[in-house]
Amino acid sequence: MTTATTPRLSSDEYMKLEDQYGAHNYHPLPVVLSRGEGVHVWDAEGKQYYDFLSAYSAVNQGHCHPRIINKLVEQARTLTLTSRAFYNDQLGEYERYLSDYFGLEKVLPMNTGAEAVETAVKIARKWGYEKKGIPSNEAKIVVAGQNFHGRTTTIISFSSDPDAKGNFGPYTPGFVSVPYSDVEAMRAELDKDTDKIAAVMLEPIQGEAGVFVPTEGYLKAVKELCAERNILFIADEIQTGIGRTGALLRICGDCTCQGHCERQPETYVTPDVLILGKALSGGAYPVSAVLANNEIMEVIQPGQHGSTFGGNPLACAVATEALEVIRDEKLTQNARELGHHFRAEVQKIVDDYPGLLKLVRGKGLLNAIVINDSPESKTAWNFCVKLAEKGMLAKPTHGNIIRFAPPLVIMKEQIEECVGMIRSVVEEMDAKL
Ligand SMILES: *Cc1c(COP(=O)(O)O)cnc(C)c1O
Repeated sequence: MTTATTPRLSSDEYMKLEDQYGAHNYHPLPVVLSRGEGVHVWDAEGKQYYDFLSAYSAVNQGHCHPRIINKLVEQARTLTLTSRAFYNDQLGEYERYLSDYFGLEKVLPMNTGAEAVETAVKIARKWGYEKKGIPSNEAKIVVAGQNFHGRTTTIISFSSDPDAKGNFGPYTPGFVSVPYSDVEAMRAELDKDTDKIAAVMLEPIQGEAGVFVPTEGYLKAVKELCAERNILFIADEIQTGIGRTGALLRICGDCTCQGHCERQPETYVTPDVLILGKALSGGAYPVSAVLANNEIMEVIQPGQHGSTFGGNPLACAVATEALEVIRDEKLTQNARELGHHFRAEVQKIVDDYPGLLKLVRGKGLLNAIVINDSPESKTAWNFCVKLAEKGMLAKPTHGNIIRFAPPLVIMKEQIEECVGMIRSVVEEMDAKL
């Protein structure tokens, strides 16, 4: 099972090709991956690594999960794409399955996360005009500082990241940003222009920003502020959703996860609009979706929104299987239990090496270590390069923060082995401080 495929080229050669022929829109760690299985990936030379990025939480079910891949192949041999000009025999059952799974009445299927966010924005605006009575073209959507919702021109218009935003203007108007995890700032903004605000859109934990967990009660408070003012609450659970944080959704209302979910009253909040992506397909195929109840979703009528690939039979079959794997293998529960263990173990390292490490934080298996250095320093990058040498892949986000998000199929002994690798990198780097 662990034999490497014979590489056609060396890692160096693959990297040179990307450098020469690909746009330089990413700055990858110098590792070339050629195979994956469960929690592991292998590079072109056959070296094995633990994957602690999981493709930004798209591969929650583990690399090349056999059930998902079998479903993919089986459906690919049968019917892949019809467009929505016709019905297909996968979409309806998939939509019913998603609706039952997440507890919202209707589904609008898309492909990538950013498209689903765009879809939610369009639904919220249209609802604002047609149901709330906002004057034409004046709808506002309130978002949080340091947000990450994707890369389209509209979405980057409300980003606070200069790299994501710079020189891509003119920007789409209609968005207001408030500090994250600050109920009073949110209340003040929602009281300012209440009649023109269609929605608030939040990540329940800010993943890209560096795994910022909001203060307890924040999400519930925002939902209540919205409900009192006839404002929609949109949860972007593209990264936090589908088991990752030890709950099926971070914001979890009347879903039927049957106890697989940590139903703390604090997060027991039903969003009006739910955005899913990433792990919805277990990393096998781009699949995203927006869910909402009838009275909201009905603002979208034929011809008003769509996508050639959205809702295709291949996506429906893959996503259904990916969600069944989450439930059958109790991955939400595993994320919760091993997340506690991971943070407790890493906290010991933080306590032992306060010169190098500032803190560890997160929920479930979405965690981050903050390095005790400036965001401009190379310390986190060097840390990740050394971790890779030991056999563990993670990537810095925003300079001095390292996210740790392994596939949810990881086991306790594997977590412990990885904590050991983190400790040995810390020891080596601390010796040089
Ligand atoms: C990854 C992500 C997106 C964008 O998804 P893409 O598939 O890359 O377009 C949006 N929101 C959140 C919270 C994400 O993590």
